[in-house]
Amino acid sequence: MNICLTDKIFKVLSEVVTGENVKAYVIGGWVRDCLLKRDHADKDIDIVVIGSGIDIARKTAKRLNPKIKVTIFRNFGTAMFRYEDYDIEFVGARKESYRRGSRKPAVENGTLEDDQKRRDFTINALAISLNAGDLGEFLDPFGGIADLRNRLIRTPLEPGKTFSDDPLRMLRAIRFATQLNFHIEDKTFRSIAENVERIRIVSAERIITELNKIIMCEIPSRGFVLLEQAGLLRIIFPELDNLRGVDKKEGKAHKDNFHHSIKVLDNISKRTDNIWLRWAALLHDIAKPVTKKYSPESGWSFHGHEYIGSKMIPDIFRKMKLPLNDKMKYVQKLIDLHLRPIALSQEEVTDSAIRRLLFEAGDDIDDLMLLCEADITSKNEAKKTRHLENFRYVREKLREIEEKDEVRNFQPPVDGCEIIKTFGIKPGREVGIIKNAIREAILDGIIPNEYKAARKIMLEKGKELGLTPSGR
Ligand code: ATP
Ligand code: MG
Repeated sequence: MNICLTDKIFKVLSEVVTGENVKAYVIGGWVRDCLLKRDHADKDIDIVVIGSGIDIARKTAKRLNPKIKVTIFRNFGTAMFRYEDYDIEFVGARKESYRRGSRKPAVENGTLEDDQKRRDFTINALAISLNAGDLGEFLDPFGGIADLRNRLIRTPLEPGKTFSDDPLRMLRAIRFATQLNFHIEDKTFRSIAENVERIRIVSAERIITELNKIIMCEIPSRGFVLLEQAGLLRIIFPELDNLRGVDKKEGKAHKDNFHHSIKVLDNISKRTDNIWLRWAALLHDIAKPVTKKYSPESGWSFHGHEYIGSKMIPDIFRKMKLPLNDKMKYVQKLIDLHLRPIALSQEEVTDSAIRRLLFEAGDDIDDLMLLCEADITSKNEAKKTRHLENFRYVREKLREIEEKDEVRNFQPPVDGCEIIKTFGIKPGREVGIIKNAIREAILDGIIPNEYKAARKIMLEKGKELGLTPSGR
């Protein structure tokens, strides 16, 4: 049975290792995804060699194409090269696990089984032989094939050992369970719950890689529920964990904002693969706990949570090692604006309110509308339909105004330079006041978004400020 080894690369590999008389195996994610008939998301092929991985990497690359550049990590005893779409990584079989703190990587030679033991899960420890004698045969000492069939995440060793060797594996368990829609074996899950505190020794960079992979899953909420149940969420993402729970006063309860947020994330994930839009969905209500108030007249309120929430983002992004660039600003903007379309759908909508939203959202207006639609998590179908209809109406109005006024990427028809030249003034406060007046007049619909009308406002406002056009 060698369903997975049809590609040329495996043929060459097999010839090289057979010729060299060393044993080598395909191992890990590639084998797992082959058996699952899952598209190899990243075309990583891991090869474990009983002997020198570096040597076999060099020889294989040379046979495939002498021009291939092989990258060698001598400290780790690994080597890799790229061939066509594949990233092929070679390691020598190792004994022992990843060293804690990993300042001194352990490169102790071992057997195939030693190497399989130090893998995270049985489904990732499966190997396929590349050797002529048993080419294509599976080596499955821990029952990984059965676990694939039963859709089970389980560690090859006693879970406490696997997790304490590298606590990131706790997150990987949840990530794989979410990606593959697998169940984490009870004993393994209990061990995660017991070892959660150990996650603190793992770097933020490694954590965010897994968290982002969970966010990019088809139904990311599954992962967040598991993170919460295991007790990992409160450690790696306390702000999200804080959204949990329902308060009740005088018989009035508010919704559980954690479950709401991850539902919104699921909803938006059906419509976008933009990871930052998914982050915005997850974080849109992040300030609800800090803005929560109760009054007997109006019940629960979260005034300003959109604004405070957007202000919380830089700290969260910094701590989690997410980028502090335009992606972060985009997330902030969507959070800040996420109630605006709702407000527009509820009251009598003026053109000017629509224009202002278009102006503030710019090109992100469509993403904002997706977020608002995803934000509807009511179980009441009639209510849901009503909200969606309201948003359809807002979208229509947006389109109308956009066609008419083109304020989405507003460029003032009269700019600062022209103001300075016209009045012969220096850059300063007055220029700002005049620019503002022009923008406001356009957004309020007092004048059209046109040069002549804007110039008129400029002259009027200048006069008010005691300025006279120079050169007259
Ligand atoms: P994907 O690439 O889809 O994320 P993968 O299983 O290929 O999944 P990688 O991170 O590419 O995951 O790792 C390749 C293989 O290396 C895994 O299948 C597993 O056998 C092993 N591995 C990776 N990370 C760890 C870890 N932290 N502990 C133990 N084994 C690991
Ligand atoms: Mg991989």
